[in-house]
Amino acid sequence: MPRKIDVEALCHEKGLRITEQRRVIARVLSEAEDHPDVEKLHARASAIDPGISIATVYRTVRLFEEAGILERHDFGDGRARYEAAPEAHHDHLIDVETGNVIEFVDPELEALQRQIAEKLGFRLVDHRMELYGVAIDRKS
Ligand SMILES: [Zn+2]
Repeated sequence: MPRKIDVEALCHEKGLRITEQRRVIARVLSEAEDHPDVEKLHARASAIDPGISIATVYRTVRLFEEAGILERHDFGDGRARYEAAPEAHHDHLIDVETGNVIEFVDPELEALQRQIAEKLGFRLVDHRMELYGVAIDRKS
């Protein structure tokens, strides 16, 4: 998956004021390879700047989300999880045992969803696809 979205640059684009703490949180988000929740983001951000409170992380992710910089996901465990808004669409498979999230794109699935919408009289503009699974052959 293409990664390393420059969250700070997106903040500039959207005209958001960048404080030092927001810059740290933006950096943590840019470097995230997973889909962290607020607690994980706070752990990573406060490792860089111990002055960053969890309340600041909450406020900042809400601000970024409202600006369209972040996508919020609910992967069924009641914790909001975040990723920098991807340039290219992808879907998610959630490992229900570990909470790991695998990203995938399937052209056939994309086409099928468009066809379903068209059959129902709609032009598809967006969708969310979340698959939940357990590893068939977990070697741990
Ligand atoms: Zn993702």
